[in-house]
Amino acid sequence: MAKRDYYEILGVGKAAPLDEIKAAYRKLALEFHPDRNKDPGAEEKFKEISEAYAVLSDAEKRKKYDQFGHEGFDRMYSQEDIFRNVNFEDLFREFGVGFGGSGGSFGFGGDIFDLFGGMGGGRQRRNNDLRYDTELSLEQAAKGLEQEVMIPRNRPCSECGGSGALGGRRITCSKCGGRGHVRSSRKMGFTQFMTVSNCDKCGGAGTIPEKPCKKCGGSSAIRSDERLTVKIPAGIEDGAYLRVSGQGNYSEGESGDLYVVVHIAPHEFFKRDGDDLYCEIPISFGKAALGGEVDVPTLSGNATLTVPAGTQTHTLFRLRGQGMPRVRGRGGGDLIVRVIVQTPSDLSQKQKDALKEFPDAEQKKKKGFFDSMFR
Ligand SMILES: [Zn+2]
Ligand SMILES: [Zn+2]
Repeated sequence: MAKRDYYEILGVGKAAPLDEIKAAYRKLALEFHPDRNKDPGAEEKFKEISEAYAVLSDAEKRKKYDQFGHEGFDRMYSQEDIFRNVNFEDLFREFGVGFGGSGGSFGFGGDIFDLFGGMGGGRQRRNNDLRYDTELSLEQAAKGLEQEVMIPRNRPCSECGGSGALGGRRITCSKCGGRGHVRSSRKMGFTQFMTVSNCDKCGGAGTIPEKPCKKCGGSSAIRSDERLTVKIPAGIEDGAYLRVSGQGNYSEGESGDLYVVVHIAPHEFFKRDGDDLYCEIPISFGKAALGGEVDVPTLSGNATLTVPAGTQTHTLFRLRGQGMPRVRGRGGGDLIVRVIVQTPSDLSQKQKDALKEFPDAEQKKKKGFFDSMFR
């Protein structure tokens, strides 16, 4: 489904100043906030307007969106990036909406953090992702391979099953009562404001080890060097990365992903452009003139190229299907061969005599041409 235009969603013009955008968002947010509006589509609508606001209220993001539209913008920013710098809590405070108080108001404890995937004050996801760089030859990239990699990383502690607790026993955090976040309230005038932040005692987990595990000291993870087999598909491009889900670092119940970044070493003979390969093949003057077969090395062996009589130097020939395989889908690219005609330099007298015929033949042709022009 195509995404709607952000300006259209908020009902503002392309040149709308920030205060107009904010006012438009305020009006819609109060109407569609899922705590107030129980219509089935309200939550979706609330997310949609909040996303539009998050982008249009940020000068840099708005500029990018204006320039590249949804398609380009979505390639540059993840959902997480979009909401990263908007503090909805402060914003709603600014809107003068009382919450945490009695009836009719809405709270920020649960719903909104779930809506934004924990952004803006909820539990932040740890960055447990790992990167591993590997270099392949062009031949390996063409065939694909299963590569063994050695990754030092944090894995769940075997003693406590990755819980960090002695005997695996964790108890509810006394500070946050298991919610993972704590609220503090503050009164300003007639309105009571509620602030929600990550619980510092349990780090947002809601539970703490009853006693810390002796092996990992309560950290839940142990450093270990492990061998992993990563499947690299045939035809992979230089700079491509493979995401191996769940094989990054582990901490407290969450495993990050492993990113294997593939580099392809330059080849002494072939150059690559997408799925196609290029190479240059020297051919003799005689073969260029008379035509014939030429052996061409390929990534998988050899191929035969037939050059026609009268082939000029630097002519390109295409050998279908002899390039790189396509990573997705069938088939592959072509091998494009540039023939370089070698001009002979050590000739016998007989060969020299034979070649002397050529200039005369050329002269005769030219003469006829000039004659026809200036007659
Ligand atoms: Zn806690
Ligand atoms: Zn442990």
